[in-house]
This record gives sequence, C-alpha cells and structure tokens, in this order.
Amino acid sequence: MNIILLAPPAAGKGTQAELLEKKYHLHHLSTGDLLRKSASREDDFGKKIKNILENGVLVSDEIIFQLLDNFMEENKNKNLLFDGFPRNIHQAKHLEKILNKKNDKLNFVFLLEVEKEILKKRITGRRCCKQCGSLYNINIESLKPKIESICDQCGGNLFQRSDDNEQSFETRYEEYLDKTSALIDYYQKKQLLYHIQADKSKEDVFQELSEIIEKERVL
Ligand code: AMP
Repeated sequence: MNIILLAPPAAGKGTQAELLEKKYHLHHLSTGDLLRKSASREDDFGKKIKNILENGVLVSDEIIFQLLDNFMEENKNKNLLFDGFPRNIHQAKHLEKILNKKNDKLNFVFLLEVEKEILKKRITGRRCCKQCGSLYNINIESLKPKIESICDQCGGNLFQRSDDNEQSFETRYEEYLDKTSALIDYYQKKQLLYHIQADKSKEDVFQELSEIIEKERVL
C-alpha cells in the first residue's frame, strides 16, 4: 500500500503521518524532515538548503529526486507513506515512473483541507521534538505538551522550525497554490484523491483516514 499526504503548510501532514506510520506499519518519507537534517550541517550544501527553507520556496527537483532515490533503495518492497512529496507535477510523474518500474502503484492520495486563516494560527504555535520528531501545538489545547517545551513521548526539548513564522508561511502558501495544488486535479483524474476536512481534532482526522483505508481493503 502506498499513500500520499497532500496539504498546504501546517494542515497536519506530519501529525497524521506519525499515526498512519504506526497503525499500518508504513515507511515514512518526509522530504521536509530530510531537508531539515541536511540544513543542520555546517557545509555549503547545508547552508544552501537552510537558506531555501527559511525563505519558504521549494527546493529543486534534482535534490528531491536524490533523496527519493535513496529512500526507495532503502525501502524496497515496503508499504510507503509520502509526506510532503510530490510537490509539483514533475515530481508526481517521477514517482509514478519509479513505482511502475517496480510493478507497484499508488493507492490513496489524501488531501488535507484547512482554511488559510487557521493554518496561519497553527504555524506560529507548532513545536517539534529535537530528539524524536513528535509534533505539538501550543495554540491548540489538545496538542499542547504536558510540560512546557518538553516532549511527552521522550522528554526531549521542543523547538520551533525556523520557517514556522508568518513571513515564510505566506511564501510557502503561495508555493502551494502555485505549484502543489495542481496535483489535486491530477490525482482526481486518476481517481486516487480523497478530500479530508482536516480542521478537526487529530483523532477525528485519523479516524476518517483509517475508515477509508480499511473500506478499500488493500491491506
Ligand atoms: P515540509 O516539512 O513538508 O513543510 O517542507 C518544508 C520545506 O521543505 C518546504 O517549504 C520546501 O522548502 C522544502 N520541501 C519539502 N518537500 C519538498 C519537495 N517535495 N519539493 C521541493 N521542496 C520541498
């Protein structure tokens, strides 16, 4: 089973990916997480990526394809969960080519829909664990950590992403409308797209995703 999570910034891709990964034993590719890892390195490549992420524009397809190729090589014959990939039609076609070569295919593309004003509020409150990557939101009661700045799961310190500010958000949202939202039509035509109203609690969104997956009985 292969799933894509498609969404504007801060719609809850990462949160739902954590839950799906555990329940359905999926292998999770977050291109954003891999890029942030690269950006934390002090070399020229790391600095270049850090700059792109802070500006909120998309990274080049060549860099993304390199990350994808490594991931596919390490996860042969596994159930895959793509979070933040593909971000444009070129990337979507590339993924299709790779899956076709392995006689594999996509099963679901979940579009997480949330209004822009809500996304903006979410983005300034988002916090991530440095150690285990768990996600929190200090602007949403049910997503606050039990102890301020400390991860409930592993006790690690929480941090705010450098692109989680209003200025980067505006650019990221524009990039989404400009390049990524074309995928909605693309996957709709392939009858793979499921619209998910994602301004609900994480449990309710997850319940909806699970029901769709189980109804289709691809597991
Ligand atoms: P995310 O963690 O998915 O919100 O991604 C954070 C940032 O990483 C984005 O704003 C982009 O700059 C970059 N990024 C992540 N995935 C991709 C992708 N598939 N293509 C291009 N840029 C990406």
